[in-house]
Amino acid sequence: MKFLFSAQFKASDIKLFPLWEGGKPAADFAPISLALPVRDFKGKEGDTSLCFDGEERCLLVGLGKQDKANVEGLRRAYSKAVQRILTMGYKHIEVLFPDCKQKAEFLRGIAEGIALSNYQFSYKSEKPNPLIETVTIVGASKSALTDEILIVAEGVHFVRNLVNSNADDKIEKLIASAEKLHPEVTTTVFDKKFLVKEKMGLILAVNRASSKEPVLLKSSYRGNPKAKDHIVLVGKGITYDTGGLSLKPTDNMLSMKSDMSGAATVLAAVKTAAALGLKVNVTALAPLTENCIGSKSYKLGDVYTSYFGKTVEINNTDAEGRLVLADALSYAAKHLKPTFMVDLATLTGACVIALGEEIAGFFTPDDNLAEALLHASQLTDELLWRLPLHDEYKKHLKSEIADMVNAGPRWAGSITAALFLKEFTQDIPWAHIDIAGPAFLSKPQFYCSSSATGYGVRLLVELLKRKLS
Ligand SMILES: [Zn+2]
Repeated sequence: MKFLFSAQFKASDIKLFPLWEGGKPAADFAPISLALPVRDFKGKEGDTSLCFDGEERCLLVGLGKQDKANVEGLRRAYSKAVQRILTMGYKHIEVLFPDCKQKAEFLRGIAEGIALSNYQFSYKSEKPNPLIETVTIVGASKSALTDEILIVAEGVHFVRNLVNSNADDKIEKLIASAEKLHPEVTTTVFDKKFLVKEKMGLILAVNRASSKEPVLLKSSYRGNPKAKDHIVLVGKGITYDTGGLSLKPTDNMLSMKSDMSGAATVLAAVKTAAALGLKVNVTALAPLTENCIGSKSYKLGDVYTSYFGKTVEINNTDAEGRLVLADALSYAAKHLKPTFMVDLATLTGACVIALGEEIAGFFTPDDNLAEALLHASQLTDELLWRLPLHDEYKKHLKSEIADMVNAGPRWAGSITAALFLKEFTQDIPWAHIDIAGPAFLSKPQFYCSSSATGYGVRLLVELLKRKLS
C-alpha cells in the first residue's frame, strides 16, 4: 500500500469524508453535494455510511466527539472505514483530511488506522477481496510520517502472518523469515547439535516429545556500531503448546498455535529497526520448539539442568515457556553483553485473568526501563500495566530436590513465572512482558483486524527509538 498526498480530489474508487459526532463535517466538503446523507449521519466514532454524489462513491466516516478527538479514536474510526472498504473490494481510496490544529497527530491516527487494518489472512477456498493499494490524503501537506507508519505496519503484519499460520510448519517458517528480515540483519540458526553441546537442558527437555528439532534463532542489527549499547529482545517461540503430559483441555489448546507470538514479535522489532535505519544495536533471540505429548515427553517430578547449571524440578509441563526463555536469557547474559534485555511471551493464563485480553502485564526491577516501556505504551496505545516482582513469592518455587520448581501455585501465577525468569537474568536490567492476553484475541477488533494482533511490535520500536535520546 502507498500513501499519496494531494490538494484536491482526483480519481479513485471511493472518497472518504470525515464528520464529527452530531453530523458536523470535519472538513469543507464543497463542492461535493452530500447534503442529504450528511443530515442523517450521526458521526459517532466508527460509524460509516455509503452514499453517492452523482456517479462518485462516497463513504462518510464518523470521528466521534470533536472535543475528545485523539490518535487512538482516529485509528479506530478509520479501521472501521477500511473494514467496510475491504468488503467492497476497492483498491484506490481518497481520504479528505479533517480541519484540525494537531495535524501530525491526526495524520498519525488516520494513517495508522488505515495501514494496520489493511490486512487479511485466510485459508478459505474462496479468494478474499483485494487489499487497498493507494490512499490519497486530500488536503494535508506531504509528510514522511506515513513512510514510517507503513514500515512499522509491515512489521505488525509480519507477526500476524506467522501467528495465524498453521502450527505444523511454523518452525520452518520462522527460520525462513528470520533469514530474510533485512539485508542489514545477520541471522544465526543454532540447531539441536549446538544446544546439546552448550547443554541448554531446559529447551531440550521441552522439545523431547516433538518430531521437530529445537532451534535457537539469533538475529542482530547493528545500527550504531561505534556504541557499546546492545539491547537484547527475547521471544517465546513455542510453535504449538499441547501442555505436554500436563495436557491442556481442548478449549485451552485451540489458540495454541499463537504461543510463538513473542518470537515473531522480537524478530519483527529487529526487522523494523533495520528498515527504519534506527541508530541502535539490537538482537532478537528466539528459542523455538513445540511442546508435544508422547512417549518421550519430559516428565513431572523429573529434574532437568539449565544452561547456567541451575536445576529445575518439573511440576507442570505446561509451564514450558519459562523453561525455554530461561536458557535463552542465560545465553544472552553470558554471550551478548546486553545493556538491557526485554522478553515477550504468551506466558500465563493468570495474566489474562488479571488484566483481560487487551492489556499486557509487565515486570521489571528497573524503574528506568519501566518508565521507558510505559512511555512507549502511551504513544502506541498498546496497553501495559506494571505488576509486582514480589521476591517473597520465591518461596512458592522451592523444591526439595532441585534449585527450584518450574511452576508456583495457581494464585499469583504470572508473578511466580516472572520470578522464575529473573533467576536467569544475572542481574542485567531486564523486563518481562506477558502478552498472553493481547497477542491473540478471541475475535478481531478495530485495527487489530485478525485474532493475531502483532501486539508489541510498535511498542518495541518506540522503545528502541527512545533509547537513542
Ligand atoms: Zn504451556
